Amino acid sequence: MTGPDSGQQAPNQEILRLDDVGKKYGNVHALRGVTLSVRQGEITCVLGDNGAGKSTLIKIIAGLHTHSDGVLTVNGEEVHFSSPRDSLERGIATVYQDLALVPLMSIWRNFFLGQEMRKGWGPFASLDVKSMVRITGEELTKMGISVPDLDRPVGALSGGQRQCIAIARAIYFGAKVLILDEPTAALGVKQSGVVLKYVAKARDAGLGVIFITHNPHHAYLVGNHFVILNRGNVSLDSSRAEISLDQLTNEMAGGAELEALSHELSAVTAATDKL
Ligand code: ADP
Repeated sequence: MTGPDSGQQAPNQEILRLDDVGKKYGNVHALRGVTLSVRQGEITCVLGDNGAGKSTLIKIIAGLHTHSDGVLTVNGEEVHFSSPRDSLERGIATVYQDLALVPLMSIWRNFFLGQEMRKGWGPFASLDVKSMVRITGEELTKMGISVPDLDRPVGALSGGQRQCIAIARAIYFGAKVLILDEPTAALGVKQSGVVLKYVAKARDAGLGVIFITHNPHHAYLVGNHFVILNRGNVSLDSSRAEISLDQLTNEMAGGAELEALSHELSAVTAATDKL
């Protein structure tokens, strides 16, 4: 098992790589020269403010959009995704903020949504409910999620629990790379903690995790590697050993810009005090 400090050990195997990747939407250059490496058993955090290019990056890796420039490789092989299916077939699963779960359906139905188990053949085929309920229970227990009644609708669970179920599902269906799109953005402190624990479990299960967030504190709790996007460019790329939380927070906030603003504000305050 690897912890967040594994940056100091021999590097884990690289699963996904972007080299000099760019994306243009007409005249808008949403991403430019992005180089990024995702390794097995590690969490790569991608941070950035609104409009930094995070969603565009996810869409390229998830096969929703094709990149305009650069090279995308999975396990050393160059790929050109033309649909989300292409990305999924390479073992890349994406858990979006607005989760692809159906609130009124039960937990086990959601777990197997689109990949239902069946028993019997031809006209006698039916859903294998018993196996699906059993496997859902087993997989959630493995992740340390305790849900006493798997027949409960997913909508009755907390936002954090729903995120965890989506993560457990991706792991069960064989994801090698897990992209998490701002999984803690809509959650309070306690719920965020629960989700971060499962993000770490996905890493410990050997997946390469891409954790998209604008919260450096959340990123630093679990991350092995940090990449900051700023107006479509990579403005920082550091392993955990190379950066402290303070530095990460400062870089994320715009570093020098923030310092200039702080000077300006203290000048304004001093001027107002004199009045
Ligand atoms: P983030 O997810 O970090 O907020 P996005 O990837 O959504 O950033 O956006 C990066 C830039 O690309 C922004 O300037 C945005 O306006 C632009 N952009 C994103 N999607 C499109 C699109 N479909 N068409 C045109 N411009 C887009």
